[in-house]
Amino acid sequence: MHILYPFAKRFIAGEDRETALKNIKTLYEQGFLCTVDVLGESVHTEEQAVEAKNEYLALLKSIETFHRPVDISVKVSALGMDIGYDLCKKNVEELIDAVFHHTVRFDMEGSDLTDRTLKLGLELQKTHKNLGLVLQAYLRRTDRDIQSVIDQGVSTRLCKGAYKEQEDIAYQSMDEIREKFYSHACRLLKEGNLPAIATHDEILIEQITTFIDKENISRESFYFELLYGVRRDIQQALLKRGYQVRIYVPYGKAWLPYTLRRLGERKENIIFVVKNLIQESLGLGKIK
Ligand SMILES: Cc1cc2nc3c(=O)[nH]c(=O)nc-3n(C[C@H](O)[C@H](O)[C@H](O)COP(=O)(O)OP(=O)(O)OC[C@H]3O[C@@H](n4cnc5c(N)ncnc54)[C@H](O)[C@@H]3O)c2cc1C
Repeated sequence: MHILYPFAKRFIAGEDRETALKNIKTLYEQGFLCTVDVLGESVHTEEQAVEAKNEYLALLKSIETFHRPVDISVKVSALGMDIGYDLCKKNVEELIDAVFHHTVRFDMEGSDLTDRTLKLGLELQKTHKNLGLVLQAYLRRTDRDIQSVIDQGVSTRLCKGAYKEQEDIAYQSMDEIREKFYSHACRLLKEGNLPAIATHDEILIEQITTFIDKENISRESFYFELLYGVRRDIQQALLKRGYQVRIYVPYGKAWLPYTLRRLGERKENIIFVVKNLIQESLGLGKIK
């Protein structure tokens, strides 16, 4: 087993669909909504892209009878974008055709994919309404992209951005990223279609909820969105305050790249992993 698995387990709902579905059902029973992600990215062969699509199709089949809406988060790189735009488009179309009353949302990846992801999303959204996008507040270009998603009425998740980007492309300081996040969030809440505010940042959440109250924005018109296993206290608190809260639930065997991004977001996570490693290698575990 990989040395990072004890850490990864906190952030993923299982390595297989059946385990993930049990966790998803529990979240729905607690009053949350979910966005489900089949882990995997950057495939290099058409067979791998088709394999990823097939797992999504199987997932869609198993949530056919869910009465409440489920978001299905997909990475265009997993559906073959780096092999070819048309191959990826064909795979996505198959998913959208099978989506019932749920939604397919493109996660946003590194900046080499931003143009192609938005192009495909905006193109397909003209004919398929159950399609959503993601914008990253750290990207300078989001000032322009936000206008496109608003004009076209595309449901959009706003997050800070999780990839390493150069300064000419992305803001680097947390203050600037927060400032941008706040102004984009306010625009999406007022002018957007069913936006999702995706952050665990308490400062931002307080600022945004104050804005929501001041502007009298209906709680039915947006979601807060948080990651599985991250700040469960905030997830519960938002639910208790009467907001719609969606949990991003990843599952699958290809958990390493996702886990490494979560690891890098917080120094305490690195300490947790190092502690586990020392415990294991020195045989300090309590159960022998
Ligand atoms: C629902 C959802 C979907 C996302 N989708 C995308 C996407 O499509 N593309 C993309 O680039 N990024 C995506 N992200 C990741 C996002 O861009 C940020 O990297 C991530 O959310 C950290 O920023 P933050 O604002 O949540 O919290 P930060 O300001 O980084 O942290 C605020 C607090 O949250 C807690 N926290 C945050 N991260 C962790 C962690 N890893 N482990 C433990 N505690 C943590 C800590 O208590 C921390 O103090 C998504 C995030 C969410 C919540």
